[in-house]
Amino acid sequence: MNNGEVILVGAGPGDKELLTIAALKAIQSADVVVYDRLVSKEIMDLVPQKAKLINVGKNVGDHPVPQERISEILVEEAQMGNEVVRLKGGDPFLFGRGGEELELLVENSVNFRVIPGITSSIGAATYGGIPVTHRDYCSSVHMITGQGKRGTKPDINFRALKELNGTLIFMMSVGKIHYIIEGLLSAGMDPKMPCGVVENGTRSNQRKVISTLENLEEDVKADEIKSPALIIVGKVAKLSDAFDWFSKLPLKNCNILVTQPKAKASKLADLITAAGGNPILYPVIETEPIRPINPPIEDYDVIAFTSSAGVQSFFDDLMEKGMDGRVLKNKIIAAVGSQTAKTMAKYGIIADFVPSKFDGATMVKEMAEKGILSGRTNILLLRAEKGSDETIEALNQAGVKYCDYSVYRTKYLSHNPINREKIDWITFTSKSCVTGLLATQNEGVLRGMKAVCIGRQTENLAKKEGFETYVSDMSTVYSMVEKLKELAVSDCSPCGEDHRENPVNSEGGLK
Ligand code: SAH
Repeated sequence: MNNGEVILVGAGPGDKELLTIAALKAIQSADVVVYDRLVSKEIMDLVPQKAKLINVGKNVGDHPVPQERISEILVEEAQMGNEVVRLKGGDPFLFGRGGEELELLVENSVNFRVIPGITSSIGAATYGGIPVTHRDYCSSVHMITGQGKRGTKPDINFRALKELNGTLIFMMSVGKIHYIIEGLLSAGMDPKMPCGVVENGTRSNQRKVISTLENLEEDVKADEIKSPALIIVGKVAKLSDAFDWFSKLPLKNCNILVTQPKAKASKLADLITAAGGNPILYPVIETEPIRPINPPIEDYDVIAFTSSAGVQSFFDDLMEKGMDGRVLKNKIIAAVGSQTAKTMAKYGIIADFVPSKFDGATMVKEMAEKGILSGRTNILLLRAEKGSDETIEALNQAGVKYCDYSVYRTKYLSHNPINREKIDWITFTSKSCVTGLLATQNEGVLRGMKAVCIGRQTENLAKKEGFETYVSDMSTVYSMVEKLKELAVSDCSPCGEDHRENPVNSEGGLK
């Protein structure tokens, strides 16, 4: 007997925050994930690396895997003892063929569960500012597919729909818009009936068209609306402008490159998403702890950490050796950057000194001013191999004895080249991100691109390399996003543009 199981999971309309807790748990513990076209990339990024991915949305030649074969795959994978997540856009039962997929599982006595999802028919409408019902305008809502069974023409009873006086939500219908509008008009629906179309609802590239029944087709064609999109017909559509909070988010339509290492990038990416922007994960560096390390702690008065990666490498090494933070007793501890101090606090050490700016040279200057560093004290820097020269220069100038000890190294990662037309802002959270990004691109390609940097030193390097630079007020990713919002308000031109095509390809690289 095996204990395999299939979990039919609704992934919602696209925004990963709209996943249910049950869906997230199922995704995180999956051995196999069978998914299709409508599941967003940001949700696929939540799938653990160990899981096997099976894309049934398309295979060679762009033909989707036939429905019968999908059901067989589910049975086969579960019978091998796997926890199989069948991930579907929206809710699995609403025009999602979830029922069809369960039939073969029942026949083969495969265990299964079903986790409902937020259907796009409601979720995308909501993000478009359209409440699907409102007591002043309707008392029912109807979901209709524009797709006939097995590619045949849909058979829609327009007269009945008109009589219902409810909100009509047409799915899989962009290609059938002429047929639908004609049908409703011939059934006697008011040509001035408010209508809306929401494309890529809840995603950073969401667009919408608000119109009337008689003008909708022309407006949709003018805007080149494509699938996936909802066509919403009903008086509630006229509420869209007043209730649209999503397209008013400050970073709407902004594509923002996140160059931070993958393991750390989620905070910045989540903040960008919450502000309506599209974070493009493009990690250019990876940090690697150096082993073995034996820093000469005993010989130094001040111990300075200049990044979270350094803190992590040092304390992980201690723990591997069965030791802890007590090796730092009686030492003055400095941390460059509030994040570095926070990481240290996780290991039970509170920094004695955090400089006002995120750079080593400022740390040296301010510690010297406070008398912590002088000709009589010495300092042990626990930092990256080939760390910044500015810190060393500042120490030499102050006449302080130091030891520059490497506890980790930075590796540069290579990628497909950037298409600069599709990026509004680059974010740099360290100098090595600047160097790492430049290392992946052809000479001069990035010149003049706008970059928001976390601190002065990072900004100086980015400026020297030809970026148009801005620096956040504080050395935190929160402050970087505040800066981006400020810039987006005062300089709407790049973000006001319509970047319909997502610059990230299905492998996560840039198109
Ligand atoms: N089970 C899905 C629907 C599958 S049918 C659900 O509950 O949402 C596919 C159709 O859903 C698309 O043709 C489109 O009409 C709609 N759709 C799916 N995702 C969408 C999105 N993010 N924005 C707008 N419409 C979407």
